[in-house]
Amino acid sequence: MKPAFGGTMSRRRFAQALVASAAGAGGALAGARRGAAADAPAVPSKPAAYGLDSRAERSSVETMPRRRDPIRITKLETFLVKPRWLFLKVHTDAGLAGWGEPVVEGRARTCAEAVRELESYLLGKDPRDVVHHWQAIYRHAFYRGGPVLTSVLSGVDQALWDIKGKALGVPVYELLGGPTRSRVRVYAHVGNNPEALKKRKAEGFRAFKTGVLNATRSGIVAPPGFIREAADAFAALREAGGDGVDIGIDFHGAISPQNAKLLIKALEPHQPMFVEEPVACQNVDVMAEIARGTHLPIATGERIFTKWGFREILEKGAASILQPDLCHAGGITETRLIAGMAEAYYAAIAPHNPLGPISLAAGLHLAASIPNFLCQEQVNLGEGYLKTPFTVEDGSVAVPAGPGLGIEIDEDALKDKIGHDWENPQTYDPRDGSVVDW
Ligand SMILES: [Mg+2]
Repeated sequence: MKPAFGGTMSRRRFAQALVASAAGAGGALAGARRGAAADAPAVPSKPAAYGLDSRAERSSVETMPRRRDPIRITKLETFLVKPRWLFLKVHTDAGLAGWGEPVVEGRARTCAEAVRELESYLLGKDPRDVVHHWQAIYRHAFYRGGPVLTSVLSGVDQALWDIKGKALGVPVYELLGGPTRSRVRVYAHVGNNPEALKKRKAEGFRAFKTGVLNATRSGIVAPPGFIREAADAFAALREAGGDGVDIGIDFHGAISPQNAKLLIKALEPHQPMFVEEPVACQNVDVMAEIARGTHLPIATGERIFTKWGFREILEKGAASILQPDLCHAGGITETRLIAGMAEAYYAAIAPHNPLGPISLAAGLHLAASIPNFLCQEQVNLGEGYLKTPFTVEDGSVAVPAGPGLGIEIDEDALKDKIGHDWENPQTYDPRDGSVVDW
């Protein structure tokens, strides 16, 4: 028997050899399988019947007999949408279209081009093979992961789930085994402004998020005044909201480890809902050390991609609240798997989302299909983008009940929002002009 990956043995012969090997060790059942395998048709090796890559062999899933009414992807259309988003509309020949947000902040044009590069794979494919396409797009890229490619994959994944749900006439959460809840808790940004918190609370929000006051000026070792003022700013929010609301605080990975430890101690009496990205996420051991030093929940995940990225966070106990972004971490497909991994570690999911209403809808369907959901971030409920925007009531929004993602993009309303050149902020320490994280 030649080596399994030597490339000289046909797939059929290799499969037969595997079964024969198993029969030798496994007895009658393996012997029966050997007979079945010997009669099975070989995997076709001719070029794809559709798709544009003549190097590809056709995947057998594309010929499954269940598909009496095949649906084919006909067009990938992207829209640069203000303030900094990228929408994707996947067209099909069945009169159905699916929407996603294949974007990483500050690189919308790069992502639009990366979507275009997926045309050679996706055009002509059946959009309902969602997981199959996820695997093909992720693994056939060879260089796996990264913000741009995984974000583009994420937006495509959202659009394919949207089409699949519409084709079957059911919401995405139904396809994922839900609902696990009828409403989804959301939180709002309030900066370090107690009046803003009161205003959002009056609008119906019950959970909020703030950042560290003057974070870009914290330096490598902050003076006591910085720590005290930052903690006092959080205390003012707690005073404004009362003990009945939840307030997370985002360090944005912009605080040095030593400053993070001091600030967390100062925040502990005010009991934030979580401390987000207490340090940058590249060194998981440092975050794990910080997590062991406090009883406050540590949250992270907006800059972590796929199940492989979150594995180390969980294994090392670096965070008990995972914040995968459905536009970055691998879409609905991957985030559902990450949630399952988190459940095994008694960790919760609070999806990151500073993006648009499609991303929000994807997060709501995820929340409605997992048991370990905490809270969903949002910065826009769809006003000016959706025909029916979401509404907040007593801290939560209803799970969308329509087919697919359950939203209707208002393409007329989008017309005056097309085009942007949003870039990431450039931040410097005002004392010496050196680069600091924002
Ligand atoms: Mg954050």
